[in-house]
Amino acid sequence: MGDIKITENGLDHFTRELLNEFFEPAGDNHSLSNDSSPDFAKDLADEIDGLLEQSKNLKLTEPIISLFARLKGVKRQMGISPEVFGITRETLVILAEKHSKIDEHEVTIGGRVNHALPIVEEANHRVHDYMNVKALEAPSGIELWDRIEENMGRIKSILDIDEKEWSSYSGQIRNCIDSVEKLSKIINLPSHVIEDIGRVTKNYRMRLTPYYASLIQPENINDPILIQSVPTSEMVDNIGIEIPPVAADHSPARLIDQFYPRVLTIKATNMCAMYCTHCLRIAHIGKKDRIYSDKAYEEAINYIRKNKLIRDVLITGGDAFVLPNKIIKKILNALDNIDHIKVKRLGTRIPVTAPWRVDSDLLEILGDSNDKKPLRVVTQINTAQEITPLSRETFKRISKSVSAVLNQAVLLRGINDTKVKMWKLCETIHESYVRPYYIFNCSYRNPQFFHLRVPIETGRDIVESMYGNISGDAIPRFIATAGGKIPLHKSNVMGYDGTDVTLKKPWSNDEVLYPDADPAAYADRNFSFAKYSS
Ligand SMILES: *Cc1c(COP(=O)(O)O)cnc(C)c1O
Ligand code: SF4
Repeated sequence: MGDIKITENGLDHFTRELLNEFFEPAGDNHSLSNDSSPDFAKDLADEIDGLLEQSKNLKLTEPIISLFARLKGVKRQMGISPEVFGITRETLVILAEKHSKIDEHEVTIGGRVNHALPIVEEANHRVHDYMNVKALEAPSGIELWDRIEENMGRIKSILDIDEKEWSSYSGQIRNCIDSVEKLSKIINLPSHVIEDIGRVTKNYRMRLTPYYASLIQPENINDPILIQSVPTSEMVDNIGIEIPPVAADHSPARLIDQFYPRVLTIKATNMCAMYCTHCLRIAHIGKKDRIYSDKAYEEAINYIRKNKLIRDVLITGGDAFVLPNKIIKKILNALDNIDHIKVKRLGTRIPVTAPWRVDSDLLEILGDSNDKKPLRVVTQINTAQEITPLSRETFKRISKSVSAVLNQAVLLRGINDTKVKMWKLCETIHESYVRPYYIFNCSYRNPQFFHLRVPIETGRDIVESMYGNISGDAIPRFIATAGGKIPLHKSNVMGYDGTDVTLKKPWSNDEVLYPDADPAAYADRNFSFAKYSS
C-alpha cells in the first residue's frame, strides 16, 4: 500500500479526482445483481473484463480510456464501484501510469476522461440541432441532385434542348429563360403571378440559364434559387429612392471603380449569364448587353499602369467569365506585364449559373497568369442549393489553376438568413474548394430589393454563431458596403483594466481574462540580439 501512495502522488489532480469518485462509498449498497437483470449484469461484467484485459495487454491508450470512461458511467449512473468487477484501485493506478507513458504528450487518463472528453461532449452539443436539421432545412444541390436531374430532364424536353446544346455554354445562353411565358412553361405559375412578373420584367431583365432553373425546387414556395433569379413585384412597388449610380460610383477612370489606395476594380463587362434580383449593380447590369471596345480596356489599363500605388486588381462586371477567353487573356497579360501589379482577381458567378463556360482554354489562361503572379477567383454563392456535383467539379478544376477561390455571399432574406442556412452554405462551399470570404449586408441603395434586406443584428448573430463551431477558414467576414467595405463584426473584447483584457467566447458567452503584453516592456527596443550590443 505504501508504494501505491507514493505512485499516486505522481498522478495529476484529474486522475486522483476520478479514482476518488470511483471508490467513494456509495450511499446505498448497489450491486449489479440488485439493480439489473442477470443478463445485463453478465454482459456488463464481460464488457468491463474485456476492456481490462485489453488495457493490460495492449500498448494502446484506447482500451484504457474506454475502461475508465465506462467505469465512470457505471459509477455515476448505477452507483457501482470498480470493486464490484474485481478491479482494485491499485490496478487502475498502474493503468493510469501506463496511459501517460504511452501517450506522446503525456496526457493523463484523468485529464482525458474527466476534462477533455466532457469538453468535446459539450462542443458536440452545440452543433447537435444543426446536424439534425441541415439536410432538411438547407439541402445542398448535391443532396438534391436526383431531383435536379429530374428537373433537367423535364426542362430539356419542354424547351427541346438536346444533350449537346445543354452541356455547352452557348447552348445555355441560347436557351436562357428570359420571359415569364418561357418560365411558366417549366414551372407552374398562377395567372396573377405571371401577370405580375410580366409587369416587372418590363423594367428589370430576367435571365436564367436552363441549368440554373433546374435547381429550383418548385414545391418550395420561396425557393432560394427562384427568389434570386425571378423578379417579383416588390422590385417596382417598393417605396424608396434609388441612390443614383453616378453618386454611388467611385470611378476615377473609364471602367474603373476605386476608393482604396492599393486595390481597384475594372468593370470589364455589364453582362452576366444569370441576372440576380439583388444585384448591387442593377443600374448598369441587365438592361442591354454591351460589348466594350478595345479602347475602353486600354484606357483602364493605362490608368492602372500610371498609378504605381495600385497592387491588386479585381476584374469584375457583370461577370468576368462572360468575356471571351481572348479578352480575359489580354487583360491578365496586360496586368502581368505591369511591375507594380502583384495580385489579380476575377469576379464570376458562372461556376454556379453556367458551369460549362469554364473550358480547358480558360483554365489554361488562368493557370498561366497565376504562374506569373497570384490570381484568385472570387465567386458568389448564396445558398448550399447552388452547389451541385457540377459546380463543385468546376470549382475543383478552377482551384487547381489559381491560388484561391473565394466566396462573397450576400445576406438575403429567406435565402441564407438563419444560422442553419448560413452554416450549411459555408460548410458546403468549404467542401467544394471555395473559401468563404465575405458576407455582404444587402445594400440600402436600391429599393428594388429592400424586401430582401436582413437587419445587421441578425447577420451579426449568424456570423458570430460560427466561431468555435465551424473551421476558422470556413468563416467569412460580415461587411457593409458604404463607399468601401466596413466590417460589422461583434466585438468580443468586453473590457480592459490596464493589464488584462476580458474576452467573451462567442460560442458559450463565457468570459475569460486574457493577460495583455506589458506596454512598458514592449516599448523597450533593447531585446533579443539587440541587448548583446548595448
Ligand atoms: C470590393 C472592392 C474592392 C476590394 O475589396 P477587398 O476588401 O480587397 O476584397 C476594391 N475596390 C472596389 C471598388 C471594390 O468594390
Ligand atoms: S452575377 Fe453579380 S453582377 Fe451579375 S447580376 Fe448577379 S450580382 Fe449582379
